[in-house]
Amino acid sequence: MFGGDEMDRSYLDDSTIAAIATPAGEGGIGIVRISGPKAVPILSRVFRDRRGQSRTSFESHRMYYGKIVSEQDEMIDEVLVVVMLAPHSYTGEDVAEIHCHGGSVVLQTVLELVLRTGARLAGPGEFTRRAFMNGKLDLAQAEAVIDVIRSKTRQALRLALGGLSGRLSSRIARIRDRLVRMLAHIEASIDFPEDDIGDVEAETVRQNLKSAIAEVSTMISEAARGKVYRDGVSVVIAGRPNVGKSSLFNAIVRERRAIVTDIPGTTRDVIEEYVNMAGVPVRLMDTAGLHETEDIVEREGVLRAKELLDRADVIVYVVDASSVSEEKDLNEDLEMFSILPKDRTVLVLNKIDKVNGRGTIGPYSQVAPGAVVKTSAVTGDGLDELEKAIIQVVTKGHLSAGEAIVTNVRHEDALRRCKSHLEDALQAIERNVPYDLVVIDVREGLSALGEITGDTVDDDIIDRIFSEFCVGK
Ligand code: GDP
Repeated sequence: MFGGDEMDRSYLDDSTIAAIATPAGEGGIGIVRISGPKAVPILSRVFRDRRGQSRTSFESHRMYYGKIVSEQDEMIDEVLVVVMLAPHSYTGEDVAEIHCHGGSVVLQTVLELVLRTGARLAGPGEFTRRAFMNGKLDLAQAEAVIDVIRSKTRQALRLALGGLSGRLSSRIARIRDRLVRMLAHIEASIDFPEDDIGDVEAETVRQNLKSAIAEVSTMISEAARGKVYRDGVSVVIAGRPNVGKSSLFNAIVRERRAIVTDIPGTTRDVIEEYVNMAGVPVRLMDTAGLHETEDIVEREGVLRAKELLDRADVIVYVVDASSVSEEKDLNEDLEMFSILPKDRTVLVLNKIDKVNGRGTIGPYSQVAPGAVVKTSAVTGDGLDELEKAIIQVVTKGHLSAGEAIVTNVRHEDALRRCKSHLEDALQAIERNVPYDLVVIDVREGLSALGEITGDTVDDDIIDRIFSEFCVGK
């Protein structure tokens, strides 16, 4: 009952789909991908080999050189084509790929020809959806495909590959297997009470449940870290004017590899850049601009700054090491410290070069929120320590990203529900509730786990997942 066989496969139709699989714009090559029963016949119609002949069959996984011709036998492009016959293809169906020159007119013309020849345009993620429906990938693996494509750092990629290769799924499967065996055992004792299978070993069941709960809890706590690598974190640089926020911001951006992203800047008044810090994609924000004016706008700015601080994963609060003893400034800083969350703040003593590296946190020592780092935006000293302190805050010290870690909010949610059902089951046992009822909780827990890999998941969730994909994937 928990197998994948029951899955609704009504979505599978026997149409042949096609799409441009490579990104828009100019490139060395561009690929039109076709999948479905008519993939090979369609290719036969549009492809001519080096001798100008059409072919009706193609050896699987072999490249052929030739050209694509229109219905009027007009050449459209010089190409390489490859056929991957079912089931040994990404989708599990017959797949044909036409490798064209990478220009949008070429690709669009070839695609339109393929569509006229009997394919229909693929929907977003439809190739991957077919792979899922044909059992080539489970749902967690299919979701990892997007994560691989969107990885912003090597660490994030490593995690995504852990999902894609099925390591995460196997970890889930091990928990499920143990629970399924336990369930079978309990059910046997309910169905055949006369069979003595020993005192259904309430103790064994309890132990099994406890260890499943422990494993699920571990996965939930790791998920927080996984999300850090997958989704990145926001770091806000704050502090009084002229302490060196912008200089520090620029020094960090200069020294760390900037991440190219298509995420639009969300603010006008805050300068932001994406950088890679120890594998964590960091959205770095500089609030310097928020303090610049002295009028009413200033108050607006302060409000905006507060709002940013509330939402930031890490606050880098900068003070000027060469002027820490000025009372007015100190009071302003101390006031800020009283509202900064200690577990998310790194205090930076900047301009350390002006005090020969000797800057002390002096008057700040009593109230320093979180870690303290000394930097010079001018010489670059201390930037590595600052990075370490920031990463420490977001990963709670666990630097390495394991390979079978949940990074996906949907998975995390399923784990939480699983855990709560298993805890209910455990409580029921401890209260000597009849096993029939315990079974219900365990089943619910199993079903939540099954949502991760897609064994027990509603179609609309599947729809939503694949709708995030691009067309052609
Ligand atoms: P912000 O208002 O906090 O953004 O401060 P800025 O980055 O604009 O810096 C204010 C002044 O301090 C500028 O003249 C910078 O060149 C200087 N400054 C910033 N960081 C350092 C540093 O680490 N050492 C030294 N010597 N000067 C710095």
